[in-house]
Amino acid sequence: MMTEFLIYSKRCFINDQFIESTIHIKSDKILCIYSGRNETPNLPFLDYEHLIVMPGIIDVHVHINEPGRENWEGFDTATKAAAIGGVTTLIEMPLNASPVTTDLEAFQLKQDASKGKLHVNCGFYGGIIPSNKNDIEDLIKAGVFGIKGFLTHSGIDEFPNVSKTDLEAIAPILKKYNVPLLLHCELTDDNVPEVTNSKSYQEYLKSRPQHWETNAIDLALDIQKRFDIKMHIVHLSASEGIERIKQRKSKTDKLTVETCPHYLYFNAETIPNESPIFKCAPPIREKANNEKLWNFLLDDGFDFLASDHSPAPPERKQLESGDFFKAWGGISGLQFTLPIIYTNGKEKGLQTEKLIPLLTKKPAEFLGIEHKKGNLKAGFDADIVVWDDSEEFEITEDTIQHKHKATPYLNEMVFGKVIHTFVNGVQVVENSKLKTLQQGQLLLKDR
Ligand SMILES: [Zn+2]
Repeated sequence: MMTEFLIYSKRCFINDQFIESTIHIKSDKILCIYSGRNETPNLPFLDYEHLIVMPGIIDVHVHINEPGRENWEGFDTATKAAAIGGVTTLIEMPLNASPVTTDLEAFQLKQDASKGKLHVNCGFYGGIIPSNKNDIEDLIKAGVFGIKGFLTHSGIDEFPNVSKTDLEAIAPILKKYNVPLLLHCELTDDNVPEVTNSKSYQEYLKSRPQHWETNAIDLALDIQKRFDIKMHIVHLSASEGIERIKQRKSKTDKLTVETCPHYLYFNAETIPNESPIFKCAPPIREKANNEKLWNFLLDDGFDFLASDHSPAPPERKQLESGDFFKAWGGISGLQFTLPIIYTNGKEKGLQTEKLIPLLTKKPAEFLGIEHKKGNLKAGFDADIVVWDDSEEFEITEDTIQHKHKATPYLNEMVFGKVIHTFVNGVQVVENSKLKTLQQGQLLLKDR
């Protein structure tokens, strides 16, 4: 296996711009970067011409579901998909594995389950449920990157939602360790129309209204403010949430917010009835709403993008019955973040120079790993993706590495094909095919 080599391109993304450079990689690190073309005798020289060379994507919101629900997804398939999609680091959510990651024992089981199956780097979050307040400090000390909670039913009975009081109880511990609280912001109430046709997308959409999100965001912002903790709002879908987030952000740097490609790429108006493959929570909303999300993105409002890859077997997705209300809520898309958001962004006027940090440097900052990942820089981990921004391609079943092929992105025509991926200095993807496996490392947050 090559352990020392050079990567060259006319367009290496360095210091937030494209520069003709040669990157010298030695074992698992970037040794140094030369400007221009710099061939060195006796070192392999990978000439990528005009392809984009950038830091590997960091996806901070992924559900892998192992152990316990490996028939939904698993470390092997998920991290293969990640590698093929240019994701070199991902952070796994405390659900939907079984057991859920709410105490040390479960956290250890999850780490054990990942052994020998990591093709990209993988870290973890712990979860807060009403019964595990005394486990939070142990999880933090054991190296989780944050604590995730729900304000509405999570879809998994073993992971019940928390109340404001539960969050207030753990806020001092989060503050002590400066650990982010990641909240699924939907606060359920009965102020929703009665369902008459469970196969109608419009009825599903109306069953999870914007005010559920904004009420939950208000609760989150109140806790953030009173306890001065790091708060992260996952997958914002409701544009009515934007203004209050902006206001709070103008007063603190401890509030972060993400959205996901599916909230930007799809619109409720074009989602057919009987197609729960599009079901997620909060739901994909109307075009006018999504334009506002886009404007917020273009305006630097979102801190970063994440996939919220949350697959389930086809029968769980109710693909045959078409019932939105019985179906699992989650979109399978880990592999497609880059092409989807790049293609959509081209139409919306999102510059590539602005997109790349949203997938690399900014999630690295959120995780506190910006001193070693998220940039092409001497001394940094050699996690690198090489992709083609010029050629359009179709997302076809045979290229999907997720455990299940079902995804709403199937048959989409997109730009932004990942050609090569390097993880810790080893080429794991060559010409869009898996090459060397098991190069991922388990990441624990040092405290
Ligand atoms: Zn999620």
